[in-house]
Amino acid sequence: MRILLAEDDVSLRRGLHQVLKAAGHQISIAEDGSHADTLLEGEEFDLVVLDLGLPRMDGLTVLERLRRRNRNWPVLIISARDRTSDRVRGLNIGADDYLTKPFELSEFEARVRALLRRGQGAETQIGDLLWSWTTRLASVRQAPLIITAQETVILESLIQQHGKIVTKTALAGAVGGEDSVDVDNLVEVNIYRLRKKLAEAGVEIRNVRGVGYIIQESNEAL
Ligand code: CA
Repeated sequence: MRILLAEDDVSLRRGLHQVLKAAGHQISIAEDGSHADTLLEGEEFDLVVLDLGLPRMDGLTVLERLRRRNRNWPVLIISARDRTSDRVRGLNIGADDYLTKPFELSEFEARVRALLRRGQGAETQIGDLLWSWTTRLASVRQAPLIITAQETVILESLIQQHGKIVTKTALAGAVGGEDSVDVDNLVEVNIYRLRKKLAEAGVEIRNVRGVGYIIQESNEAL
């Protein structure tokens, strides 16, 4: 998913960037409000993570301008302003969630996942495979699909981008193996196992040589 991260605090931004990258997302960075505004005007995003106290243009103004352009991408506000009035104002202008600094990265990750899920509905069906975004469990014709944690993360990344190619690097990042010596092998082994487990599900994980993988119904042409 494409995420805009607008945060001027360097160390916080670095931490959030790492979390989002590890989840396999594409991240654009804005260090001030005016830059965020420009990116939001010119590009497409699936989620906006927005600090309120930004130089050059306040986060609330960025949000106001975004909604005025009728862009309804989910917006997660992260802010040290924890007064109820700020929170209410943010939500009134059209933020979808509000996280008060300081927060745990795991909490941030959970909110991001929830917001991205919202745009997708509760479940995704491909062939006979049913994926629940609420439970993060997969089933095939009502029978639970037994897969490992790494396989789950890879399958989730593929389903999230259903119909699009997911790069091997993104998949490796999603399982936290981007620094591992044998990234290719890590991804390939998991894909191999997933294919075996999905053999009867009418789902295929195709290898697009040199680019990455795509999940699709078995009879779909690319
Ligand atoms: Ca700030």
